[in-house]
Amino acid sequence: MSYGWEAKWVRRKFKMAEGVEIETCYDITSSLILCPLCINISKVCPSTSEPSTTLVSSATYFFSPEDLFHHMRAHARMSEWGKAYVISEEEEESAEEEEEDLAA
Ligand SMILES: [Zn+2]
Repeated sequence: MSYGWEAKWVRRKFKMAEGVEIETCYDITSSLILCPLCINISKVCPSTSEPSTTLVSSATYFFSPEDLFHHMRAHARMSEWGKAYVISEEEEESAEEEEEDLAA
């Protein structure tokens, strides 16, 4: 990525395969999304409405949530991520469907 490109990162939720929802940074300029494990999304895209132009130099970019999902599955195999995000496989009877309203 060239440094002439100015990203406008906003926080956005993406529905992934298997009912997983990922919240990460989306660049409204290039339509790229970031891996929320490779970067600190609270730094890069603190807001869902106010675009941030934080420079991301070492992040992993993806063109589609599908690509990101595959990437994140690789994370899950070697990190704590699996516990936090790969949900409802063991608790399928749990009726608690919490819809967290993250809009600030
Ligand atoms: Zn990653």
